[in-house]
Amino acid sequence: MATAPCAHLDSVQLDQLPPEVPGCEDCLRTGDGWVHLRICLTCGHVGCCDSSPAQHATAHWHATGHPVVQSFEPGESWFWNYDLADGVDGPQLAPPTSRPSSQPTPGPQGRVPEHWTRELHR
Ligand SMILES: [Zn+2]
Ligand SMILES: [Zn+2]
Repeated sequence: MATAPCAHLDSVQLDQLPPEVPGCEDCLRTGDGWVHLRICLTCGHVGCCDSSPAQHATAHWHATGHPVVQSFEPGESWFWNYDLADGVDGPQLAPPTSRPSSQPTPGPQGRVPEHWTRELHR
């Protein structure tokens, strides 16, 4: 019997990421900053990782139940399933598969307090 693919990937509806997402949508709205970015593969929401103060990617999962995110960092292509609390294999997405590399990490530019590097969630 063949191994069944992760059923959660049925919820992945994106075959292409939004054309240009400069950063965490929620941080950009609230004026916060982020460390790393994750993109929801159900709806394309871009949120910040658990090392970020606001943890919007996890908050998005709590709010919507959308389980699978992909790293939105340049050079990273891994997937994470919040329901399983584990990494999963995912589909190959069409580019761009990351934030613009012009944005610094943490970001956005000029908005990240210096003390962050000491107070990040680990
Ligand atoms: Zn955020
Ligand atoms: Zn979503």
